[in-house]
Amino acid sequence: MVAYPPRVSLARLPTPFHKLTRLSEELRVNLWIKRDDLSGLLLSGNKVRKLEFSLARAMADGCDAIITCGGVQSNHCRATAFACAQLGLEAHLVLRGQNETPYEGNLLLDEVAGAFITMLPPDQYRRSLRALLRAKEEELSREGKRPFVIPTGASDGHGIWGYVAGSEELMADFNRENIQPKAIFCATGSGGTQAGLTLGMHLLGSGVPVCGVAVCDDSQYFHSKVGADISQWCRWYGESLDVSSLPVWVNDGYIGPGYAVADGVVYDTIRMLARKEGIMLDPVYTGKAFHGLLTEIRKGQFAANDDIVFVHTGGLYGNFAHRQQLSKRGEG
Ligand SMILES: *Cc1c(COP(=O)(O)O)cnc(C)c1O
Repeated sequence: MVAYPPRVSLARLPTPFHKLTRLSEELRVNLWIKRDDLSGLLLSGNKVRKLEFSLARAMADGCDAIITCGGVQSNHCRATAFACAQLGLEAHLVLRGQNETPYEGNLLLDEVAGAFITMLPPDQYRRSLRALLRAKEEELSREGKRPFVIPTGASDGHGIWGYVAGSEELMADFNRENIQPKAIFCATGSGGTQAGLTLGMHLLGSGVPVCGVAVCDDSQYFHSKVGADISQWCRWYGESLDVSSLPVWVNDGYIGPGYAVADGVVYDTIRMLARKEGIMLDPVYTGKAFHGLLTEIRKGQFAANDDIVFVHTGGLYGNFAHRQQLSKRGEG
């Protein structure tokens, strides 16, 4: 079928796939959930699928020090810290945040796992990330290490293999449940999950559209980012494919106030799903994406009994940096 490059085993696969029974009944559609929040490696969600390929590449190249970057509560950076610890590699994280940021949630775990942390205030991060990553690489090389840089979210030509493999798993889920979904929804943050699913569904000859719900940048940005990740994959792995002909669906109507900042409706959605189905979303990614999906269903985008799939990409620890917004709204 698909010929995969080297891969390290970090995830617990396949993840469960099941219907959200009570919510489906209420919405009069069949809403299914892919439980990638249960992918293992400390609940690393979608990131562990991508890291299986990115870290395999680093190790195949003989590298022993991983450099990556992200927001202060980055799930990707925390997943990288623990994956590196499991594989005996050093993790160097460049985080966008203030120096006085409290060590909680993912940041606390980064430290516990022994990652080397460099904190950069947001404006400096925007201006000089590239130069800083380069400097880190040179510094580690001078120390006799073999550094390997993984970009934000491991969303590049290596990492997207994770969701090509994830697509195969989903297709097996669809066959087992005997469904032909109208759409697959996921949160889109650095684009790699959507790129991998879009590519995977194409390679498997599936026509199910993959809809990314943007959590930070706009639709135009993600169209080009998803295309760029797939083009890079083509270049790196010698594949030829008319990338511009791949359908890329992005909904940027649910970003709210901005990245990692959510409206009350998102916290309400998190509380609703926790109570109705016993599943915990997060305020940065999956809460926004799931709120977006529910709103689209309620607006009548789908017909009665349509099968719709939500990929739960994880993010649990992100909740703990939002505990005030999550708890203060208690309506009993
Ligand atoms: C990183 C992340 C996403 C976004 O995935 P991308 O591949 O970066 O677009 C979605 N959900 C969670 C919980 C994440 O940590």
